[in-house]
Amino acid sequence: MSLIPDDVIDQVREAADLVGIIGEHVELKRSGSDYRGPCPFHGGTHRNFAVIPKKGMFYCFVCHEAGDVFTFFMKRLGMDYPTAVREVARRVGITIPERGPSGPDPHEPLYSAVAAAADWFARQLREGPEGDVARQYLGSRGLDLETVLPLGLGYAPTGRSFLDAMKSLGLRDEVLLEAGLLIKREDGTLAPSFRGRLLFPIHDPRARVVGFGGRLLGAGEPKYLNSSETPIFHKGRLLYNLHAAKHAMRKAERAILVEGYFDVLRLSLAGIEEVVAPLGTGLTSDQAQLIRRHASHIILLYDSDEAGLRATFRGADELLRERLRVSVATLPPGEDPDTLVQRRGAAGLEAILKDAVDVFERKLQILERKGFLGTLPGRRRALDRLLPTIRAAADPITQELYMSRAAEAAGVRKDVLEREVTNAGAGSGERYPSARSAGTVSTGENRSPLPAPALPASAEKTLLLLLLEGEPWKSKVIQAVDAEEFEFVPYREAFEAIADDAVLSLSETSARAYEELRAEGLGDRDPNALYERAVNFIEARRLERQLEQIDQRLPFETPEVQASLIAEKRRVFDELRKRYPRYKIAMRRRGAPGT
Ligand SMILES: [Zn+2]
Repeated sequence: MSLIPDDVIDQVREAADLVGIIGEHVELKRSGSDYRGPCPFHGGTHRNFAVIPKKGMFYCFVCHEAGDVFTFFMKRLGMDYPTAVREVARRVGITIPERGPSGPDPHEPLYSAVAAAADWFARQLREGPEGDVARQYLGSRGLDLETVLPLGLGYAPTGRSFLDAMKSLGLRDEVLLEAGLLIKREDGTLAPSFRGRLLFPIHDPRARVVGFGGRLLGAGEPKYLNSSETPIFHKGRLLYNLHAAKHAMRKAERAILVEGYFDVLRLSLAGIEEVVAPLGTGLTSDQAQLIRRHASHIILLYDSDEAGLRATFRGADELLRERLRVSVATLPPGEDPDTLVQRRGAAGLEAILKDAVDVFERKLQILERKGFLGTLPGRRRALDRLLPTIRAAADPITQELYMSRAAEAAGVRKDVLEREVTNAGAGSGERYPSARSAGTVSTGENRSPLPAPALPASAEKTLLLLLLEGEPWKSKVIQAVDAEEFEFVPYREAFEAIADDAVLSLSETSARAYEELRAEGLGDRDPNALYERAVNFIEARRLERQLEQIDQRLPFETPEVQASLIAEKRRVFDELRKRYPRYKIAMRRRGAPGT
């Protein structure tokens, strides 16, 4: 719980000149895309120490010290984490906002214990006598030890040697227990949590190891075991490989979600680095938020069997609730990403990623193939399966498009479908951009003070319906919003045409949208409440865009400008909260100041 905000730490890490900084301590020479030099940690004379700017990390092939720019300062100069961050920030000219007196992180002993364990496990995989079984296992999967060691993989032997090793490092049992590294048996004796397992280190977004996922080698159950929940390890709030993938996610403007640790490993070794996996469970809303911080488009790459599809669609709904664009890539039957890349290489996988389709289309394809759309009862069942996805789409335009598509495919009138989406959604669902799953906000904040009116599909649509009501609404709406703020093109054209009294000039698509709106009308819905919510929504979207623009500028400005931008960000954010209280939650995941 360091007091430096995560997004600032990210900015600092990304801005740091890793080669320059390490180059002050080590004589580095370029070697391909990396740099090599003698290792400052074990005092080697050969060029076994690699600095890999693309991954923002260093690694020694002899003593296996590894880490990022902050770890380098910590290991080389004995700094603690916040000091290392501040030192690098100072060099790159990023001002770290002072946020009151900084005390030591109360969880520091846990991080240290897990880091020490990770080092020890890695050594067992590398050269431990019992590690042979793991080395052979990796070999059988076509994974070279030299390529997986820099990723921090380890091996937990079957016996009690782990206990002795930790004791010799002076780590106390209570700390090891709290860090999830030991378990207490019923008779009160202690045992290592992981025995006879290949271990995948799980990092938090700051690239600190906080736990492990372990694959059992040999007979027994369960095949995969994660660290238990600890103060620093929450499996529903972490993603495997996010610490390494997030830079690639930004660059590629996409994320790829797979199911298993080996899938992640294989893809990133093949050079597709924007890949993450949940930790052996279904995707949670917290994990969806984490992804949204780094990419706006995600491709789900799960097995194509029934279980894989169920996991795909459940995960997709969580991601749609976070307003991500969600595509589904389809693997050939019987393949997983790991086997596919082994067989066909990165190019084979890229071809499959290129064929990814929108999750809603994928759902429709499957329903169609199963013959659901051919009969009347089948169509009803098909709709029941489509509705959760339509409701999950928190982006109003996406939802609008899904409804049109579903109405067309199932042969129902769109207004009927819309009512079903709206009515059932009124209690649980929430289609405005801050849509959050219940439980993350108090109900007091979540509930509108007004009795919830039956809402049309989107704020944009609401405004058009009001526009069609005539005065005084027409003038009010024209004053409150500009045509450019309508993201759904037919609606933008309809707005312009109605405002200009030129509906005859509408294109065919827009004319159809216009006719649908006229046919629907406001009915008995309260125009005042609708107007207020819709205008607030549009305003919130404006403010949100403003925040995004500030975020984009921030890393490139001088410290003075940055300070004023951060102040500006806080002002915009406060305004956003006022306009749309539920935005508070949506913004928190962006690391807005003051949260
Ligand atoms: Zn070394």
